[in-house]
Amino acid sequence: MAEQAQSAMRPDKGPDKGMVEIDTSECKGCGLCVAACNIGVLSLAGWLNHQGYHPAEYSGQGCNGCGLCFYACPEPGAIRVYKLAAAAAA
Ligand code: SF4
Ligand code: SF4
Repeated sequence: MAEQAQSAMRPDKGPDKGMVEIDTSECKGCGLCVAACNIGVLSLAGWLNHQGYHPAEYSGQGCNGCGLCFYACPEPGAIRVYKLAAAAAA
């Protein structure tokens, strides 16, 4: 958990406000979430899932938890967005 919290910290921009999880087995590779994310932290993978689609991938940092990708996705369960609690003040 501590490692996860640390990876969400970016010294230049502070801690991430959100996190996204993509179920690559449910993703149809339509790219709507990629287009919806206006900070560009989503992309389509170079590999194919079992359905023959290039699934969406999260860069692993920078998500602000806005949820636009979630609302853009037509596949129930393919993408989940989490709001991260603000880090305790030092
Ligand atoms: S929640 Fe917002 S910032 Fe995070 S990946 Fe989705 S669209 Fe991008
Ligand atoms: S919008 Fe949904 S189905 Fe389309 S690429 Fe993104 S996660 Fe996959």
